[in-house]
Amino acid sequence: MADNPHLADDLRRVLIDEDAIAKRVDELAAEINEKYKDAEEPLILVGVLKGSFIFLADLSRRLTIPHIVDFIAISSYGQKGNQRGEVRLLMDTRENLSGHDVLIVEDILDSGSTLSYLIRTFKARTSKSVATAVFLDKPARHVVDIDIQFKGFEIPDVWVVGYGLDYKERHRTLPYIAEMIPEN
Ligand code: 5GP
Ligand code: MG
Repeated sequence: MADNPHLADDLRRVLIDEDAIAKRVDELAAEINEKYKDAEEPLILVGVLKGSFIFLADLSRRLTIPHIVDFIAISSYGQKGNQRGEVRLLMDTRENLSGHDVLIVEDILDSGSTLSYLIRTFKARTSKSVATAVFLDKPARHVVDIDIQFKGFEIPDVWVVGYGLDYKERHRTLPYIAEMIPEN
């Protein structure tokens, strides 16, 4: 891969390069294949739009176990200005999750509000089991305690973009994870 990709002016540095991402996604897929290998029903991957779509696509193509891809969309308040951390479901899954193992696929765990809401919601639907695969984790930012079964990387408390993650819809399709230079 390109060792020194040309960085956009608003990016500070590459935090995780393409090779490291590929290697880690391989490992996560292997763990998921192992964990669900004896499941009787297909695993349902529920990607949280939009940020998770690239991680989910890469992960799902490495799974050898039967699985179904689905998505939800949520909106969260409290990202800017207030810290209420309220989450609302904007678009629900197409699949009926009842009786299935569900794996929520998220781009990044920050305060934990989003995942704690989703775990609660899916458990209430009597899914057989609810687990989470999170590509990035910012441990310094957690407000809620969340149990993550499959985690890609821990990162410091900086705003990151690439590999599905955006800043105002910018940089979402970069093949690496980069740290932004904060706007002031
Ligand atoms: P939480 O509910 O855990 O506070 O927030 C998780 C959501 O915040 C993520 O799904 C993501 O949309 C957004 N987020 C948190 N940190 C970052 C970041 O560094 N970069 C981007 N692009 N989104 C982030
Ligand atoms: Mg997200």
